[in-house]
Amino acid sequence: MEVRVMARPSKYTSGRRERLPRNWKRLRLVVLHRDNHTCAECGGVASHVDHIVPNDDHSLSNLRALCASCHNRKTGREGGQAKARNQRKNGRFDAGPHPAYLRADEG
Ligand SMILES: [Zn+2]
Repeated sequence: MEVRVMARPSKYTSGRRERLPRNWKRLRLVVLHRDNHTCAECGGVASHVDHIVPNDDHSLSNLRALCASCHNRKTGREGGQAKARNQRKNGRFDAGPHPAYLRADEG
């Protein structure tokens, strides 16, 4: 059982997606720039910004750059914890047939 502090009314909760702040676009660029557009997981080119701890903490210390593949993999995992188990299957494959992604996933 997971204990979560809900900082906002439930109308803002839309499943696993984090609620992003108004300045997210700018914040995102700051993080990508800080991390040299390098994925923190695989070292590839990062185009996504990830919440290290998935919550409403949008401080720079909780954000890091990830590539699309690693980010999709991670959000898929996080969604799987809270939602139905069979959704993990979808999360694995809806990212598209990216070779690096598939290889990393197969181990
Ligand atoms: Zn990556």
